[in-house]
Amino acid sequence: MYSHVAQQLEEVRRTIPEGVALVAVSKFHPVEALRIAYESGQRRFGESRVQELLAKIPQMPDDVEWHFIGHLQSNKVRSLIGKVSLIESVDTERLLELIDKESARAGVVSRVLLQLHVAQEETKFGFSVQEVIDYFANRRYETLQATHICGLMGMATNTDDEARITADFAAIKHCYDAIRNEAGTELRGFDILSMGMSDDRDIAIAQGSNMVRVGTAIFGAREY
Ligand SMILES: *Cc1c(COP(=O)(O)O)cnc(C)c1O
Repeated sequence: MYSHVAQQLEEVRRTIPEGVALVAVSKFHPVEALRIAYESGQRRFGESRVQELLAKIPQMPDDVEWHFIGHLQSNKVRSLIGKVSLIESVDTERLLELIDKESARAGVVSRVLLQLHVAQEETKFGFSVQEVIDYFANRRYETLQATHICGLMGMATNTDDEARITADFAAIKHCYDAIRNEAGTELRGFDILSMGMSDDRDIAIAQGSNMVRVGTAIFGAREY
């Protein structure tokens, strides 16, 4: 039933250059589909809901690298800490501090990306460019005890207008470069730029993305 997954995964892989990591976004898809991808060599999976992720983890092999990519509510932080390899969607400083507190409490170090909001949509979550620039310029990361900020994640406006999408990704890349130039040597391992999904990943890669999050093109349409 999920045999198309192996082939589609292979096709997606062919379009992704070396040095760009592929996160297979498996939200809303059953574990059977994830297993097909796993058997085809995929190890990095992205999920957007805590309950769904926690249910899938014990059903998949231990060497899966889970990424959390959805909006994370404060009351779910504690149950997520220590379970994932990367939280890509830290969208407020308050959430970042909470993740840090809970990670310290659990005795683990959490790796996170800060989610940037550049898209021209009110509904998307994330820091503004200015907020992120200020955060690093004021070295507020120095207070973190158990959190490693590994880079940025961002989405382009949901549109067919390629110029708009290109401009959004360029803005995210610009912010990423500015942070690396400013705090580069101190912020060791700030080197992930996660941008691009099924429909806009080629544009994202052309704009400097080194991590794409691809769901539909691998697993097919989601049934919500
Ligand atoms: C669902 C989702 C994706 C994958 O989207 P597709 O269009 O199915 O590839 C990527 N990133 C985030 C943050 C998502 O929520």
